[in-house]
Amino acid sequence: MSKRKYIFVIGGVMSGVGKGIASASIGKILQARGLAVTAVKIDPYINVDAGTMNPIEHGEVYVTSDGDETDQDIGNYERFLNIDIHRDNYMTTGRVYRSVIEKERNLEYEGKCVEVVPHIPMEVIRRIKNAADKDDADVTIIEVGGTVGEYQNILFLEAARMMKLNHPEDVLSVLVSYLPVPSKIGEMKTKPTQTAAKMLNSAGIQPDFILCRADQEIDDLRKEKIAMFCNVRKEEIISAPDTDLVYEIPANFERDGLSEKILKKLNLEARAIDLSDWDNFIQKIKSTKDTLKIGIVGKYFETGDFVLSDVYISVIESLKYAAWQSGVDPEIHWINSDAYDGHSEKIDELRDYHCLVVPGGFGSRGIEGKIAAIQYARENKIPFLGLCYGMQLASIEFARHICGLGGATTTEIRPEAEHPVIHIMSEQAEKLSKKQYGNTMRLGSYPCILKSGSIVERLYGKSEIVERHRHRYEFNNDYRDLLEEAGLVVSGTSPDDQLVEIIELPEDIHPFFVATQFHPEFKSRPLQPHPLFIGLVEAGQKRIIN
Ligand code: GLN
Repeated sequence: MSKRKYIFVIGGVMSGVGKGIASASIGKILQARGLAVTAVKIDPYINVDAGTMNPIEHGEVYVTSDGDETDQDIGNYERFLNIDIHRDNYMTTGRVYRSVIEKERNLEYEGKCVEVVPHIPMEVIRRIKNAADKDDADVTIIEVGGTVGEYQNILFLEAARMMKLNHPEDVLSVLVSYLPVPSKIGEMKTKPTQTAAKMLNSAGIQPDFILCRADQEIDDLRKEKIAMFCNVRKEEIISAPDTDLVYEIPANFERDGLSEKILKKLNLEARAIDLSDWDNFIQKIKSTKDTLKIGIVGKYFETGDFVLSDVYISVIESLKYAAWQSGVDPEIHWINSDAYDGHSEKIDELRDYHCLVVPGGFGSRGIEGKIAAIQYARENKIPFLGLCYGMQLASIEFARHICGLGGATTTEIRPEAEHPVIHIMSEQAEKLSKKQYGNTMRLGSYPCILKSGSIVERLYGKSEIVERHRHRYEFNNDYRDLLEEAGLVVSGTSPDDQLVEIIELPEDIHPFFVATQFHPEFKSRPLQPHPLFIGLVEAGQKRIIN
């Protein structure tokens, strides 16, 4: 068994500077040296998982194969490292406290007084080591959410300090900082980084490396300054300028020799780096020619004067991978579904898109606009992919406009619906009646059987698949015969045939109309784009007129 090594990635100065991508990229360069790498995400909030937070608060909820509702950074790890991350690799303050309290109730502390320190950091350490063991990782990257200096993440930093004290040769800390260039000053400023490093010092942690995020490369002069004031060597300061393409970041880090420097500090040996498949991927991205105009019809999430796009990050990345593989440059547009609700004249603008996606969602806002967009895509033969709510709304659209069921809807928005084409699963109704909201949806991986001769069977190249779910409502089987007789193809079902998982329209009727109850976007990886996204993009490509 290998000796486990741990790298803590801690943010300084401000949030949102790409700590998750930095963590994933560090993992990537170590993995490219032949090491087994895994990653752990710590979120300092009290919520036990991300499932109960609204998108404005949290962005995307990323669903793991074992059904955990986690942070989008877990998605970054899966995509960069091409591994499945599990429930054990994600923790929040709520999750940690809950297990300490449960253990106390079970007398597992043998009568001791259970205290915030050391018992909370000890539980954090137990969880980190458990994740490393389960994944049999040589190196475990631990991303600590939040920014140093916040009250919230202090116990997680305490865990990092304790691990370093007990295993000085096996633990490293990386400070991901930000260096602003104030427009009126015109010079890159190091003081916020110096302050962040001092705050980290006051938590008992000396950073081994400082990753300097900025809109440009950091120069020698500033490296010297940071080295002097933050107590690191100049070569331990890594430049991390903004890039249009996050997938170039591992190679950028490597230009500074980061993997070798990390291995030396951890006293690890590994083979020379091989990033060739990743380099080919980047070359492919850079040699795309035509532009594929893709519309995502969703609801906007605004925070103050800003619009959040993180909410659908896995969908966006999946579209990009498929487009790049097909040699086209994806141009992704946000289409606010509210705009079409009661404004049917506007909908004609959808004609300009090569393909359309209606992603997952909850609640009533914007749904009539989404249904109108789906109808437009169906009638005007625009390639369409519906995801989760997108599949439910596509079923409703078909029921209304092809089967003449004007009152068709989902009981999510009208419990007394005249035609509940989408309805709640009975065990879900029971959970809601007991106010059991957290971690109770249909979550994680489920098998699905594909109909022989269907579009999806051709795209997947097999007849049984496993995909990830996150929803409470389902296609109502009372309407299945009616919709199928009218031409809707149920091309994927649960193995017992009780749950409709995929619908499609035959290719002689529509170039590409596929919608899934599951979320294929969680399984798409840079070098293995998801077949359904490829299907959409290839159909979209046929609409590009040169
Ligand atoms: N709101 C729908 C449901 O709960 C769809 C969920 C989703 O799109 N993730 O079933």
